[in-house]
Amino acid sequence: MTQAPPTARYAFEVESVHKVFAGSQKVFALDDINLKLTEGSFTCIVGPSGCGKSTLLRILGELETATSGTVTKNLSAEGIPESAFVFQEHGVFPWFNVLQNVAFGEHMAGVGKRERTEHARHWIAEAGLSGFEESYPHQLSGGMRQRIAIARAFATGSPALLMDEPLGALDAQTRMLMQEQLVRLWEMERKTVVLVTHSIEEALLLGDQIVMMSARPGRIKEIIDVPFGRPRSMEIEGTPEFAAMKQGIWDSLRDEVQASLRYS
Ligand code: ADP
Ligand code: MG
Repeated sequence: MTQAPPTARYAFEVESVHKVFAGSQKVFALDDINLKLTEGSFTCIVGPSGCGKSTLLRILGELETATSGTVTKNLSAEGIPESAFVFQEHGVFPWFNVLQNVAFGEHMAGVGKRERTEHARHWIAEAGLSGFEESYPHQLSGGMRQRIAIARAFATGSPALLMDEPLGALDAQTRMLMQEQLVRLWEMERKTVVLVTHSIEEALLLGDQIVMMSARPGRIKEIIDVPFGRPRSMEIEGTPEFAAMKQGIWDSLRDEVQASLRYS
């Protein structure tokens, strides 16, 4: 007899979620989304512009409510937010220095100064920002500013990390370095991560699974398991298996991108 598999714990269970934005014209943003995200997994969401990726992420993080359907969360966070966010831009406070920015989450959670400073310094070092603790965001490059946002998200201690195109505004080289760093940080501290990206390569490099969405109204077209193991080296990008997967995903996504262009 085969043994029953251990029950998977889901950090997020999304059931029959619909989202309609009601205005002068109704926008059907999400249509019947069903998704289970295992605790500690790294999920990437890809899909054409306007298909509801950000909306889905915002619903997971309770920045937005579903019109119908349910999101069940299983995130143990006492006294801290269940989810930490990283957005493409404007993620850091310009009036705070790096240390203050990274310590902000724990500051809000009432963690004492010595402890939060110690944690912040740890994540600043892990994000490669040591020596810049006293610098202000405007004194740093775009890549460094995104590293502040990522360090802060980790330092907050939240069990879930929701990222909306966090590396989208960076140049190609900085982006590659940041992808590497992000994987390394996540491998150290297995949070449940959901990352929205435009880049199929990025989704394959970072994710355990890729959720591909269709053009509006956003539905889940396909969920792809990424076969590359962990710890993951960015060198997989040069392998024939990577190229084949990338092509397969693009073939499927292309129809959706074309459909989305017809709408706009
Ligand atoms: P994506 O992130 O995939 O580009 P979004 O989730 O931002 O897509 O948006 C999905 C659809 O919902 C788009 O058509 C967008 O215009 C619409 N939308 C998003 N937010 C709002 C809002 N607050 N009010 C009205 N429509 C919105
Ligand atoms: Mg978006």
